[in-house]
Amino acid sequence: MTIDKNWGLSTLCVHAGVEPEPITGAIMTPIFQTSTYVQAAPGEHKGYDYSRAGNPTRTALEASLAALEGAAHAITFATGMAAETAIAQILDPPTHVLLSQDAYGGTGRLFRRLFAKYGIEPEFIDLRDLDLVASRLSERTQLLWAETPTNPLMQIVDIEGLSRLAHRFGTKVVVDNTFCSPILQNPLALGADLVVHSSTKYIGGHSDLLGGVVMTNDDELAEKVRFVQFAAGAVSSPFECFLMLRSIKTLALRMERHCANALAFARALEEMEGIEKVLYPGLESHPQHALAKKQMKGFSGIVSAYLPADMERVSRFLSKLRIFVVAESLGGVESLVDHPEVMTHASVPPELREELGINAGLLRFSVGIEDVRDLIADVRQALP
Ligand SMILES: *Cc1c(COP(=O)(O)O)cnc(C)c1O
Repeated sequence: MTIDKNWGLSTLCVHAGVEPEPITGAIMTPIFQTSTYVQAAPGEHKGYDYSRAGNPTRTALEASLAALEGAAHAITFATGMAAETAIAQILDPPTHVLLSQDAYGGTGRLFRRLFAKYGIEPEFIDLRDLDLVASRLSERTQLLWAETPTNPLMQIVDIEGLSRLAHRFGTKVVVDNTFCSPILQNPLALGADLVVHSSTKYIGGHSDLLGGVVMTNDDELAEKVRFVQFAAGAVSSPFECFLMLRSIKTLALRMERHCANALAFARALEEMEGIEKVLYPGLESHPQHALAKKQMKGFSGIVSAYLPADMERVSRFLSKLRIFVVAESLGGVESLVDHPEVMTHASVPPELREELGINAGLLRFSVGIEDVRDLIADVRQALP
């Protein structure tokens, strides 16, 4: 279907990238579960020759995601980490990479433990501080890696400000947009060069698949990432692409409910005795609420909160929850709660964890699409 530039995101979610299948008219893109394609003569094919290089189910998914993010190119991968790896693989070492000190735990691990061996020198700093960023950028810095809101502390970094600074040094800017999905924030429009998502989270939305995507408007960067996808081979499978396409139909609708639920949940938590502090960019009490309002269309579904930093007490609270279940990951229709210190952020160096405030009392709630009064009541009954 030819996309109309004026269509809203809900319309794009349902229609972008998806064509009726030409032979049967099937309205849904089939799962093209094939590794290869018959050629009429050597080199004479219909645009597909081998599924690592291209697959029609993946093509539809990539077109759909690109339309949602407002990107010229989308390249999908088996996982979010595979997508992140592809970005690192387009760098030309030796190089310096600046990253958010509060980046996703797996991103930190990837750069500290894997890429540091290949001449990519990571430096983790507070990207909220633009003067600090300016003092650390140099011509050696090929990449600046931002994530906003950050995980689990919900810090907001200024995508526009960072991009302007970085471009003075020829540094490319990538934003991990996982927490927002393409519905709530579009970093490319704010000056970023690349966007990466773990589509395992909101885009997939049902806790039943893994996926990642890199998007850009820069033809040269896209060609490099596409080459890594083909050469290194961490492609998304036809079945995962099909599930993802199915998920995207309801993405705008789900994000609307995630946002509304999370805001009501965060406000209720702020009033509860036994909760010391609530971190949610949609709250007026968030120190960067104004910046969040400026660059996000909604504040998404992740709410972090501090209970007293007493592991025994926190464990008792978690065991009493009935709707929220303790699990890693986020962005699914069901509500989850994570204990970052022990679970998702265990690989962050302990000194840095302490400095950031990731302690025994911190919990990260992924607020699902249930009835929010039930979610609020669940927390209330579990508190002492
Ligand atoms: C989960 C996550 C990733 C990693 O994605 P996988 O699909 O688990 O490989 C990267 N960034 C953020 C912000 C995430 O939440």
